[in-house]
Amino acid sequence: MRALERAAFDLAERKKVPRPKCRKKTGKKVAVVGAGPAGMTAAYFLNLFGHDVTVFEALPIPGGMPRIGIPDYRLPKEVPDREIKDILSLGVKIMPNTRIGVDISFPEIRKNHDACLVATGAWKEKKLNIPGRELATSGLDMLIQAKEGRKSALGKRVLILGGGGVAFDYAGTARRLGAEEVHIACLEPRTGWWPPKRTFNRERGGGSLSTTARPSSVS
Ligand SMILES: Cc1cc2nc3c(=O)[nH]c(=O)nc-3n(C[C@H](O)[C@H](O)[C@H](O)COP(=O)(O)OP(=O)(O)OC[C@H]3O[C@@H](n4cnc5c(N)ncnc54)[C@H](O)[C@@H]3O)c2cc1C
Repeated sequence: MRALERAAFDLAERKKVPRPKCRKKTGKKVAVVGAGPAGMTAAYFLNLFGHDVTVFEALPIPGGMPRIGIPDYRLPKEVPDREIKDILSLGVKIMPNTRIGVDISFPEIRKNHDACLVATGAWKEKKLNIPGRELATSGLDMLIQAKEGRKSALGKRVLILGGGGVAFDYAGTARRLGAEEVHIACLEPRTGWWPPKRTFNRERGGGSLSTTARPSSVS
């Protein structure tokens, strides 16, 4: 099913895809805070139900983490850009560069709308509670800089602390930024979430992998 959906998205001629019909206008105004996948999906359906939807987004571009963080070699930015363009063309309004709580207060949003949906994601990285943690670079910052085309000063040998699919995005990006060896140390044993062996070896580029490794300090 996923492959069929992907083929339909990649191959369909946009102009020939029928536009979904919106229901009769309800006269209700809805604010959505955050233009990531959750906020934009909600905005799409609320708009189809006939509500007047405005999305408030802190960043200059909508799309959330898939647009600014997931590496281009896995998700080219053109994909979320195209989907968002389609949603906006149906009548959803967007206010970029508008951080709720800074540029507009939450009570103001509540006062001017009949309903408000908060879809601000989960951006807070867990900080390592070990000596020397300030010497480590944030993986997410590295991904965001790489997606913007900015280069991080990574060096030739990179150690990634932490596992999961995101660690492999860090590894793959570090390799593409010029790291010759990438090592991953994580607490999790090798289980179902690991990428296929081929991807795994390619992303590490000859580096090692230590599972159930708990770093005690960074120096
Ligand atoms: C490196 C990486 C790889 C990933 N790979 C995958 C994958 O392969 N498959 C998968 O399904 N998921 C993946 N994910 C997870 C996926 O990105 C998230 O689950 C998804 O983005 C969550 O969507 P969201 O809309 O809830 O939040 P987000 O995408 O985080 O969007 C939230 C939006 O809210 C905005 N915002 C925050 N605060 C405010 C505020 N005060 N005012 C206005 N706007 C605000 C933010 O700027 C952002 O645009 C990955 C995540 C990362 C970090």
